[in-house]
Amino acid sequence: MRKKIVAGNWKMNTTVSEGVELAKAVVARSAEVPANVGLIVAAPFTHLVCVADAVKGSKVEVSAQNCADHEKGAYTGEVAVNMLVSAGCTWTILGHSERRQYYGETDEKLVVKTRLALDAGLGVILCVGENLEQREAGEHFAVVKEQVENVLFHFTAEEMGRIVIAYEPVWAIGTGKTATAEQAEEIHACIRQVLAGKFGAQVAEDTTILYGGSCKPSNAKELFAQKDIDGGLIGGAALKADDFIQIALSF
Ligand code: PEP
Repeated sequence: MRKKIVAGNWKMNTTVSEGVELAKAVVARSAEVPANVGLIVAAPFTHLVCVADAVKGSKVEVSAQNCADHEKGAYTGEVAVNMLVSAGCTWTILGHSERRQYYGETDEKLVVKTRLALDAGLGVILCVGENLEQREAGEHFAVVKEQVENVLFHFTAEEMGRIVIAYEPVWAIGTGKTATAEQAEEIHACIRQVLAGKFGAQVAEDTTILYGGSCKPSNAKELFAQKDIDGGLIGGAALKADDFIQIALSF
């Protein structure tokens, strides 16, 4: 049985103390969440050590939102995977559409970052998704398929066991516009088919595929009821512990 996960992407929000408070509030309600549902909070780099400390002993895991594309050295301002591990992270998000759009993150870079993250022992939440123009042009299946192939086809079936995919239609992120459950499900099913073609049916069946894009307590149940949707990557609604937990209770 593949793992269900609800992951909160805090993006560039909260001060360190606010982040610690939020993490503690998530921990305080985390026991309500069934054992087969994983909880992850992706905090800003500055918060990671304190947030990891705040969630210690609970089921909540800590993720970064990005990592450097080099192992170490003269890359001012960057944060390496071994630093994330030493800060208490067990995951990193990679390829979020905001990083692809504003920071020139390419699939080629994502291959490098995914390799570094896996080799350091981190799990990876790889984001894929089409933008509005691509959706309106009917290119959404092709775009997502290509993103999955460009990055994940460089890894082995075994390594896929530590990779989670997040399908996030760019037009639904932070816009209040959610993909319908049917729109999300058909892309998730397509991703699973692409994985089956490369890695075999078992890997496709076992890979956790999250939906992201204006997911909130009011729509999570319908999304999570789809057979290929295994949870969510949550932006805005992850900034309120009660909403985040409510989403995690929506399976
Ligand atoms: C995200 O940024 O990953 C996201 C899904 O954001 P939101 O839930 O705010 O749309």
